[in-house]
Amino acid sequence: MSKGTTAFAAGAAGAPGTAGTAGSAGAPGTAPVTVTSLDARLIRVPLTRPWAADVTSVGVIATHVTRSDGAEGWGFSWTPQIGAEAVHALLSNDIASAVVGRSAEPGQAWQGMWEHLHEAGGGGIATIALAGWDLALWDAAVRAENTSLAGFFEAPRTRVKAYGSGVNLHYSTEELVSQVQRWVDAGFDAVKVKVGKPDVAEDLERMQAVRAVLGPDRALMIDANQRWDLERATRNLEVLAAVDPVWIEEPLRADDLGGHIELSKRLAASSGIPIAVGENLHNAYRFDDFLRTGAAQIVQPNVVRVGGITPFLGIAGIAAAYGATLHPHLLPELSGQLALALPAVEGVPESMVEDVEDAGFGTLGALDGPSPITIADGYMTETPHVGLGISFSHPSLPNSPEES
Ligand SMILES: [Mg+2]
Repeated sequence: MSKGTTAFAAGAAGAPGTAGTAGSAGAPGTAPVTVTSLDARLIRVPLTRPWAADVTSVGVIATHVTRSDGAEGWGFSWTPQIGAEAVHALLSNDIASAVVGRSAEPGQAWQGMWEHLHEAGGGGIATIALAGWDLALWDAAVRAENTSLAGFFEAPRTRVKAYGSGVNLHYSTEELVSQVQRWVDAGFDAVKVKVGKPDVAEDLERMQAVRAVLGPDRALMIDANQRWDLERATRNLEVLAAVDPVWIEEPLRADDLGGHIELSKRLAASSGIPIAVGENLHNAYRFDDFLRTGAAQIVQPNVVRVGGITPFLGIAGIAAAYGATLHPHLLPELSGQLALALPAVEGVPESMVEDVEDAGFGTLGALDGPSPITIADGYMTETPHVGLGISFSHPSLPNSPEES
């Protein structure tokens, strides 16, 4: 069994938790490799296309670890607009001081660190911050093997489908239609747009305009970003079923498990539109809750918000055990590499990568090297790199990895 399948298999047990360990560090007869330092620097990256009047930038907290064997790794945390300073503080204070001397093998120390931080929350800021440490450990481990993440996991595929996505509820219908036309022209055959206007008649008019551009054969996904309550979602989806959406994303507050269970029953008995959730679920227990109860049919973990690659692999295992489709949320430079690596599950559609227009780190000019991925003609492939292949340009970041 490869290192990759070991990690995935450990996560596939079905129980909430984390994936197994990664590699050869700490093999029998050798001294365990430990973390000797972790540092974190906050970078504010302006959004070319603001996601709303009050969402004009994303915060990236670039991380760097050193290990007792001299190896180094680079990772990051990320959050749009809110909380970046808090994540930076948690990493610089509580996490940095707690990980020194602990195992540097990805996966091995994750559960203990999550428990260490748990009084600050079992998800959210705490897991977003943990991702900065976890990703840097994975980068170091994969770099040590002189391969990419997909190579490390012996990825079963070399490309994955990508879909065009936009944070566009505030766009005029004309702007929205232009955006959808750009996606069609770029070769996407699946797109996702926002719904959630005060009057569903306006949503319907916008979606009909989008459908007219897409034609009947391209896939349309709709995303309400938690704007509705149960009754409104029920009524609005009866109306929006007319445009044949492939899924409804975050119809309700992500915290409202009971509401999702009831909405799921109602949809199963009417339009049959599946529910997708996950960008605001922050740990494996919550994903297990939504899948076990039938509250959602598609899950969309954000690799940073759940705490890094280690818990992401565990969540992928949970989704596989339930036969649920998983489409990673945002962050195509990293999510795309994970989508390449996820094991195929019989009877379950493969993951798609979300390409929010002009929002990738590469497109935003935030990377100090070439992007580790390329998206063209509706598919994502990786470009040659070692490790995660993601480092950020910032004048106060002296330790960026050398180009390879
Ligand atoms: Mg969404």
